[in-house]
Amino acid sequence: MAVRSTLRNVVKGLRFRLTIGYLLLFALLLAGVGFLFRETVRVELDNETKGALEEEWGAAKGYLKIEKGKPVWIADSTDPEEAYIVERLRHAYMLADSSGRVLENSATYESIGIDDPQEIARILSRRQPDYRVRRDRAGVPYLVKSGAMQGGGKTFYFSMGRSLEANQRTVNRVTQRYLVTVYAVIALASILGWFLSGRAIQPVNSVAKAAREITSSNLSLRIPRREANDELDHLIDNFNHMTERLERSFDQIRRFSTDVSHELRTPLTVVRGQLEVALFTAETPAQYRDAMVNALEDVEKLSSIVRALLLLSQAESGQLVLQKNPTDLSLIAADIVDQFQIPAEEARVSLVAASVPETMILADRTQMERLLSNLLSNAVKYTHPGGKIQVRVGPAPEIGWIHLVVEDTGKGIAAENLPHIFNRFYRVKDAETHQVQGLGLGLSFAAWIVSAHGGTILAESEPGSWTRFTVRLPSHELSAQAVAAAERPTASVAG
Ligand code: ATP
Ligand code: MG
Repeated sequence: MAVRSTLRNVVKGLRFRLTIGYLLLFALLLAGVGFLFRETVRVELDNETKGALEEEWGAAKGYLKIEKGKPVWIADSTDPEEAYIVERLRHAYMLADSSGRVLENSATYESIGIDDPQEIARILSRRQPDYRVRRDRAGVPYLVKSGAMQGGGKTFYFSMGRSLEANQRTVNRVTQRYLVTVYAVIALASILGWFLSGRAIQPVNSVAKAAREITSSNLSLRIPRREANDELDHLIDNFNHMTERLERSFDQIRRFSTDVSHELRTPLTVVRGQLEVALFTAETPAQYRDAMVNALEDVEKLSSIVRALLLLSQAESGQLVLQKNPTDLSLIAADIVDQFQIPAEEARVSLVAASVPETMILADRTQMERLLSNLLSNAVKYTHPGGKIQVRVGPAPEIGWIHLVVEDTGKGIAAENLPHIFNRFYRVKDAETHQVQGLGLGLSFAAWIVSAHGGTILAESEPGSWTRFTVRLPSHELSAQAVAAAERPTASVAG
């Protein structure tokens, strides 16, 4: 069973197919060459026979005389050589008068077949000698020349043949030797082909082996390039890029689940501790009540973490579908700034909005509101009483882009923390930040919203003095152009 399946794998394999294809082509070529060669030899030999027959025909005419309607072969009987020549000339011949009556024929010619009167009449009427290939009873082929012969003022029919057997034998012998050579060459070629295709495929096999070693737990492995810059290197590059992307998303998933379990564990431990303490130490209903209120607050915090996480994971896995419509960003900003006036007053910071018209963008209104809320809630949370928050909406210096700037005179973000603030669960580790509530999810969500709208977000800060978030979004016109450009090729194909 194992042998059969190994055999099946070999037969299905690229190496086998390459070898077989190459061999078939090679065999076909050799067969074609062989056929051509054989035909050339045959034609060449037959031409030689024809020349010899021509000579014999001439000689026969010299030795054969027709006297009173009877053939007479004139040979010097004292010359044995001449007698032999005449004997040979008379080996396969026939003589008939113009009416087709046979005057004389050799036994061999009878075996080839005496020509009938119609045939004789047809050939005589043509004036030119006629050549045919005919077989005797034993199947031996003969080249037969037939034509007119003059004698005593009359026309006679003379026909003579010469065996082609020797030619046939030579051709067959040549063919046989050629075939033996071809078998040997094909056997050699198949060994060479198997070896060569093995060498050609070897890099593919080593790439496959390297790819097999890459599993989900060691995605950092890369297939080494061969530096040949060929198709295979191209494949290796693509494969490596794919692994890189996989590694990144695996990492993200891993980090996400660690973050989540870590973030959930802390409040859960707290809730558990509070309940345990209440169970063992509380005595009055008021004490129980306090413990329950505390626990409920933490449970509330837990559910808000879960809600935020759910939303973020939906967003990042593409399940959150954006409903993009032409929207005026200044109007949204004005709305949200209004909503934040009360919290700002409570924190004793001033909140002002400044916007310029012509700020239409293609956006999902709910998400834009969420983006602004996240930025404003941070500004309010991290600005000391007496501070100032400014929201500005207007065209960006770059044509076709809109800027949304949220700037505060708050505590600022240290340079070393700036690169991390958009990461999930990242919060600056200082006493002040710890006093304000937060999950560290607001900015990661903001970053997702901006990128889902084709924009960018930039954070700048001077610690202890100010923080500025600059969101850059494509204007409605630019987005519409991009949509049109994306649709154009399909339209032209359809047309
Ligand atoms: P959440 O928004 O999830 O309730 P959060 O506000 O702590 O919690 P992010 O909005 O993601 O989380 O902000 C990440 C961190 O960046 C904050 O913890 C804070 O340290 C810092 N940060 C964000 N905005 C400002 C700001 N305007 N001024 C100073 N620090 C800021
Ligand atoms: Mg926040």
